[in-house]
Amino acid sequence: MVTTRTAPVRTAPPWPRMVWRALRKHCPQCGAGHLFRRWFTLVDDCPQCNLRFDRGEAGYWTGAMAVNIVVTEALFFVLFITLLVALWPDPPWLGIGITVGVVNAVMPLVFYPWSKTVWMALSLWWGPLERHELELIHAPWRAFPARRG
Ligand SMILES: [Zn+2]
Repeated sequence: MVTTRTAPVRTAPPWPRMVWRALRKHCPQCGAGHLFRRWFTLVDDCPQCNLRFDRGEAGYWTGAMAVNIVVTEALFFVLFITLLVALWPDPPWLGIGITVGVVNAVMPLVFYPWSKTVWMALSLWWGPLERHELELIHAPWRAFPARRG
């Protein structure tokens, strides 16, 4: 039986640095920018360190969706409570409902790139790079022969 999974290797930067890089939409591993071709289009691997962003686990990007939902709902909750407290005792329910509804509809689209980079940072923090991922970083020509030279 041949397996590509090997023991994890701790080479990730400290988690605060990875999260900071992610919040700037940079590679959490090396800090390189320009990871998105368009707002919703992440490049396959880092242009600087060659880290493959999809780590090959089934449903990997579901974590980014979870990050996006958590951030959106946290903003919804804070905004709703803030409006309610600020406008009490006679809150305009329709206006509050429309406001928080628009935020709930728009926020996942606005936050989309950060949800991916933050998820990548969390993923690297919780599950350090494995040997086969490190080999791609240090010797990308093994997996991408066209890049050599
Ligand atoms: Zn990188």
